[in-house]
Amino acid sequence: MSKKYDLELVEAPPIQEVSAAVPELAAFDRRAFLKAASYPCLAVCAGALIGPQATVLSYAAPAAEDDSQFIREARFYEKLPYKKIKCRLCPRECVIDDRERGYCGVRENRGGAYYTLVHSRVVTAHIDPIEKKPLFHFLPGTIAFSIATAGCNVNCKMCQNWEISQVRPEQVRSSYAPPQKVAELAQTNKCPSIAYTYSEPVIFYEYVADCADAGHALGTKSVVITGGFIQQDPLEKLCRQVDAIKVDLKAYSEKFYKEVVNGQLKPVLDALVTIRKHGVWNEIVYLVIPTLNDSDAEFKGLSRWVKSELGPDVPVHFTRFYPEYLLKNLPPTPVETLERGKAIADAEGLHYVYIGNVPGHPAENTYCPNCHKMIVERTGFTISAVRIHKGKCQYCRHPIPGVWGV
Ligand code: SF4
Repeated sequence: MSKKYDLELVEAPPIQEVSAAVPELAAFDRRAFLKAASYPCLAVCAGALIGPQATVLSYAAPAAEDDSQFIREARFYEKLPYKKIKCRLCPRECVIDDRERGYCGVRENRGGAYYTLVHSRVVTAHIDPIEKKPLFHFLPGTIAFSIATAGCNVNCKMCQNWEISQVRPEQVRSSYAPPQKVAELAQTNKCPSIAYTYSEPVIFYEYVADCADAGHALGTKSVVITGGFIQQDPLEKLCRQVDAIKVDLKAYSEKFYKEVVNGQLKPVLDALVTIRKHGVWNEIVYLVIPTLNDSDAEFKGLSRWVKSELGPDVPVHFTRFYPEYLLKNLPPTPVETLERGKAIADAEGLHYVYIGNVPGHPAENTYCPNCHKMIVERTGFTISAVRIHKGKCQYCRHPIPGVWGV
């Protein structure tokens, strides 16, 4: 339920114990999931977790009448005359009047100050294989405690999670999960990492940063799964707080970003360069959509850009599109198209080019670029062998980039 706030009431409240605020949240069990899955808003999240390894931990509590526990002052904004503000978190740079929200719908101007409405406001939580993100060179075979809030700063026509990304926080059921609780749940469930995923972590930036700190205090890493549509200053600060960032590079053309994403390509490319510069582990996913971003020229341009600006060792995943959301008129990507993209990227000199969403395809495996032997064997999200020792190929001792040990 939507609630109007008095400006005097927007100070951050004291953190409450999750068991007090939403007692059922602790009951992350199958019964709770079944209850949650009966809510339409979460059905997509459940559906996204088909697979023998996916332990579903989704839970939805009834919408809170007083949601002040989710409010924090936002970072990265500028105060303007007449109580307006300009948001400096993402390249959209929304200018927002008092009592209005930015494009993402989760950040609100209240009396000339800017607030996030989704701190600790989790709409779904799952334990996923890290390979599902996908991150192939980051703690392979481990699981990630994965969370999301509502909202997104773009509107991709192929979005798989539009039920949570294209809504305001009041339109979906959520649970209160403060950072300390998230870190403890990750630890209790033996997850070496917390993943910020499903929707767009950029728009719940403050929560990501706080969870990353809480996780690190308990020895848990943080990985961000993002479209990379973020400004440089917040990104640079984020790079100092998280351990891996997977970027969905949605196309290699401004036209696609304008028409299909409602975003821009250039800031995403700039973000990739910055992530690389800061030494945060990075992988790129390129969802190949028939007729929209699958030309040889685009595969070649993307591959050349990655090699020259990021280097040949950044993994690139060409993944298969399935009809979703506003692109149900297109067919699934033919496997041959993915193989064509991989062949072009290989020929351009990229060392780790994968094919995704095609379980059992040989291009799910990792091959040493020096001796060409298979060094990580995968089928879907299952790892059957890792032949990397101390960051080197077990056969020829060639260094293999990535984060291989906890
Ligand atoms: S983060 Fe949200 S409010 Fe800020 S500029 Fe981006 S879309 Fe606008």
